[in-house]
Amino acid sequence: MAAQRGGGLLLMTFNELNIAEPILKAVSEKGYTEPTPIQVQAIPVVLEGKDIFGIAQTGTGKTAAFAIPILQKLAETKPAEISAEEDETEPAASRRDRRGRRHGRGRSQKPVRALILTPTRELAIQISECFAEYGKYTGLHHTAIFGGVKQAPQTEKLRRGVDILIATPGRLLDLIGQGLIRLDSLTHFVLDEADRMLDMGFITDIRRLLPLIPKQRQTLFFSATLPDDIVMLSRTILRDPVRIEVTPVSSTVDTVDQCVYFVEKTDRRRLLISVLKKEPEKSVLVFARTKHGADNISRTLRKAGIQSEAIHGDKSQGQRQKALTNFKAGKVKVMVATDIAARGIDIKELQVVINYDLPDAAETYVHRIGRTGRAGHSGTALTFCSQEEHMKVNEIQKLTGKRLDTVLYS
Ligand code: AMP
Repeated sequence: MAAQRGGGLLLMTFNELNIAEPILKAVSEKGYTEPTPIQVQAIPVVLEGKDIFGIAQTGTGKTAAFAIPILQKLAETKPAEISAEEDETEPAASRRDRRGRRHGRGRSQKPVRALILTPTRELAIQISECFAEYGKYTGLHHTAIFGGVKQAPQTEKLRRGVDILIATPGRLLDLIGQGLIRLDSLTHFVLDEADRMLDMGFITDIRRLLPLIPKQRQTLFFSATLPDDIVMLSRTILRDPVRIEVTPVSSTVDTVDQCVYFVEKTDRRRLLISVLKKEPEKSVLVFARTKHGADNISRTLRKAGIQSEAIHGDKSQGQRQKALTNFKAGKVKVMVATDIAARGIDIKELQVVINYDLPDAAETYVHRIGRTGRAGHSGTALTFCSQEEHMKVNEIQKLTGKRLDTVLYS
């Protein structure tokens, strides 16, 4: 691995990062006054054209750290247009219509130049929203593709041409297989939340994808945790990367107050209801271990007069989006989620995270509570733990290096 950047960071402005005016304007309209540490470190490296091995949690401003410089680089360089005539796979009749306009079987005339690969549809949508916001004055086009919804609206956007494609692995390979996407003009490749990708079993998809993208490219690899398989994967993908680490994997954000309630399993519902009733104005994300558990908790809360929605992998994309929109708008104050479903939730004003079920891995705890206390806001994380689970709390304390306050509930 190449040099590590970081250390004493100077306070900087976006101006000093040499960001072009159209992007600066969009960033300032978004209300960002200064770049976050990962942005200070990553933006110049990406602009220099180097690969990045980034160790960063969500909530650090990581999306803008790659989106802003990629937008800038793409805006600076004109793409080589794909010529349908040069494409031997294209039937001659489909190349031009009677007016001479070029057509393909869903082929975009503009080649995809940046690919952001991300594990979940929620993250894909969220990243896509960032590109829309930061890139609104650049004239660049982007779209997100993910499974669980009809492909036609997605392929229609692709047909019109996109510079930046944000994708989950399954749908991407599917559309490549159908001849609707080619990645041979790719210049930028981002692998986002790589640890989560491996967790979700996407390693084979990633291996199938790699030979389809040019070797000559800039690659940005982000992971919140660093298990051995991630380090090995990064070695096969990156070339002489700059290592950037903003918050060590084990660390929880200081702006989050953390507390463990020792409570017997049978009393957890009562405790949850009483905590939620004390602060009805706060937006709360409750973590459940299973989909079934999430549904049950949500039902119990509704019976107790607390409006809540459950989101998990068995819900349709439409239901998940609706629940998220209601939650973000503050119409529903309590969302009950499984880990995977919660991964894409980015709510600035999320004030409380409750671990109704303790996670199996201490790292998951760090991820979960990282949903609150984002971008400088303060937050609270409450964890329910039965006596026999106390070892898990010890593991969390060991990993984070922090002693958690405890309360005995009976
Ligand atoms: P991310 O880590 O990309 O999920 O970003 C976490 C949150 O930080 C998002 O809500 C972003 O809109 C916000 N954010 C990103 N960059 C900045 C910035 N420079 N200043 C303030 N908020 C930011």
